[in-house]
Amino acid sequence: MKVVVDRSACQGTGLCVAVAAEVFEIEDDGAAIAHHELVPAEWAQSVREAVSACPVGALRIVED
Ligand code: SF4
Repeated sequence: MKVVVDRSACQGTGLCVAVAAEVFEIEDDGAAIAHHELVPAEWAQSVREAVSACPVGALRIVED
């Protein structure tokens, strides 16, 4: 699976980083990036939780 960040929608709340710090980071511009767009299987669950946690729907999963 892949995870895509809509950086124009991101409000920089940091919830995704709190849930899955291995994958997400807040950049200097205040919006999140995904270090691993292709999500390793062991992080899939935490990425799904991050997608659910995002208050503005800026994270989207693309299944393979
Ligand atoms: S949880 Fe959503 S709004 Fe908050 S930093 Fe992550 S992508 Fe941005």
